[in-house]
Amino acid sequence: MEFNKSLKDIKIYEAGKPIELVVREFGIEPKDVVKLASNENPLGCSPKVAEAISKNAHKAYLYPDDSFYELKDELSRRFSVDDNNIIIGAGSDQVLEFISRALLNERESVLMSRVTFAMYEIYARQMGAKIIRTSSYQHIADEFIESYQKYKPKIIYLCTPNNPTGDGITKDEVFKIINEVDKDTLIVIDGAYMEYAMAKDIAYKIEPNDIIDRENTVYLGTFSKAYGLGGMRVGYGIANSSLIRELYKMRPPFNITTLSLIGAIEACRDNEFVEKSISLHQKEIKRYEEFAKESGFDYIDSYTNFITYLFNDNINSTKISEALLREGVIIRDLASYGMNAIRITVGTNKQNSRFFKTFKKVAM
Ligand SMILES: *Cc1c(COP(=O)(O)O)cnc(C)c1O
Repeated sequence: MEFNKSLKDIKIYEAGKPIELVVREFGIEPKDVVKLASNENPLGCSPKVAEAISKNAHKAYLYPDDSFYELKDELSRRFSVDDNNIIIGAGSDQVLEFISRALLNERESVLMSRVTFAMYEIYARQMGAKIIRTSSYQHIADEFIESYQKYKPKIIYLCTPNNPTGDGITKDEVFKIINEVDKDTLIVIDGAYMEYAMAKDIAYKIEPNDIIDRENTVYLGTFSKAYGLGGMRVGYGIANSSLIRELYKMRPPFNITTLSLIGAIEACRDNEFVEKSISLHQKEIKRYEEFAKESGFDYIDSYTNFITYLFNDNINSTKISEALLREGVIIRDLASYGMNAIRITVGTNKQNSRFFKTFKKVAM
């Protein structure tokens, strides 16, 4: 069978390995597996969310309120925007897909950092669009502006803080780029880790409200990271209402589940849980920085809930990832991104101790 030509160059997204795989392949008990591979919240989700979901489990037969009224109401108050500035997606991933389908075709191109979230490229390739990358893995405003002027891409992706590297750009740098771009190019600000970034340094805080008046900028957020709802698949896009109206044309009905909706609404009401998650993270990430220094390799200063270790020739990222996996510690090898590096989601105190101990055992 002949598939669309655009599929030829798509590499299937490689998700973080699940606990089940390690159990199956290495016969390790599920309780002995430590998963630090998908940037999930190590504290799980808010107990209030878990309670609301179980209490409402019998509603599984009902379609959700397709207007997502209550969730939009929570978000609009939190971000000081209107309901019609918001679109809800099955993860912010789905909003990325809407954006791609609404704007791209085989004559267009997209611009992104050399090393960034893999789905930008996959969605763009599905539409046959060309991929342009800056030469640095960091988001450097001048490089983005130069490439923008040269190629006039249809979409520019600014992932701040960036996955899988963990670095970010300040609001000033983001606006330096935004101010150079005319309205035929959409700027996507992917703030999946914004809660961690703004807690570390206020200069990195970008709020949807900052961009709402612009016709060509969209802000993406998710419940999958700081809110601990990765398994519920809820994210959102916030933008000028004219842009949201166009993205709505791409949306299938009932695109998140009844229980995901209930979980996300409840999550919005429990700020304490997010604060607790962030303060645990801030304490624990220091141990990773210390560990890297003691072990003699570099790391990227992180604005996210994970840290990226950069190795030189004496450590091979793929070999070490496999060795850790055999011991029941799942992390992310970044070899497929062209880096001799690993990405580790910062876990609980106990999980992190296990990582350090296992790393020493297999690497040294
Ligand atoms: C996790 C992540 C997302 C979205 O995740 P969803 O679970 O689909 O909401 C988007 N962008 C980046 C950079 C991410 O790391």
